[in-house]
Amino acid sequence: MTCATCGSQVSWQLQKGRYYGACQRRDERCKNRKYKYIREDVVQEVVKQELERLLCPSQSVLEWVVESMQSDVEKAADNRAEVEQNTKTRIERIKSMDESLYDDKLAGVITQERYETKHESFMSEIETLELAMASFDSAVTERKRRGIYMLELSQRAAKYYDEKDDDEKRQILIELFENIMFKNDAVSVNLKDRAELIAKYSSKTRELLGSRKSNDRTFTNSENNRGQNNEKSAENALYPLWQGHVESNHDFRFWRPMY
Ligand SMILES: [Zn+2]
Repeated sequence: MTCATCGSQVSWQLQKGRYYGACQRRDERCKNRKYKYIREDVVQEVVKQELERLLCPSQSVLEWVVESMQSDVEKAADNRAEVEQNTKTRIERIKSMDESLYDDKLAGVITQERYETKHESFMSEIETLELAMASFDSAVTERKRRGIYMLELSQRAAKYYDEKDDDEKRQILIELFENIMFKNDAVSVNLKDRAELIAKYSSKTRELLGSRKSNDRTFTNSENNRGQNNEKSAENALYPLWQGHVESNHDFRFWRPMY
C-alpha cells in the first residue's frame, strides 16, 4: 500500500491489537501534513468489496469460458507446432541453397563478390526465421495462459479471501491490484486492467441473469421449465460478452486479442 501524495510505502504499527498504517512522511509534500492513520481492517474491507465485484455469478458460464480459453491455448500450441515445422523446412532449404551457391563459387560459375552478397542475405534470412520461431510461443500462448490464470485466481480470491493466510492474501493483492493507496484518510483501490475487465463482465452477467429472473416471476406456473430455458438463453447471450466480442475498446481485451 502506498501514500497517494508521495508514492512511498505506507508503514504499519501494531497498537492495542490493531494495525495502523501511515505515510512515513520522508517526502516534503507529506512532512507538513497532519499525521493521519488508516486501520488495517478498513483497508481489508475495501479490498473485499472490490474482490466481490470479480465474482462471476454463473458457474456454468465461468466453466464454459475457462474451457474455451484452454482449448484456444491448445489450438495455439498445435498451430505453433505447424509453423515451427514449416519454418524449419524453410531454414533447411536456405541452407541447401547456400551450399549450392558455395559450389558455384568454387566452380567459378559466380564471382566472389556475388557469392558474398547472396550468402549474407541467406544468413540474415535464417536469423530472422529463427528469431520469429523463438518469439512465437511467448507472445500468443503466454498471454492466453495468463488470462486463464487471472480468471481462476480472481474467482478463488473473491470466494475464499478471508480464509487465506497473510502470504496468500499478499499474493492476491499483488496479482489483481494495480495499486492500493492511502488517500485523504481513506483507501482507494484499482484493479489491474484484466481484473477490471473480469469485474465488468461479472457485473454484466449479474445484471443479465438478474433481469431474466425477475421476468420469470411474471410468468409463474405457465411452464415448469421456463426458468431453466431463460437461464440457458441468458448464458448464450453471455458467451460473446466473455469472449470480448462486444468489447468496444479493441486495445483492451481480456481474452481474444486478435479481433
Ligand atoms: Zn506520503
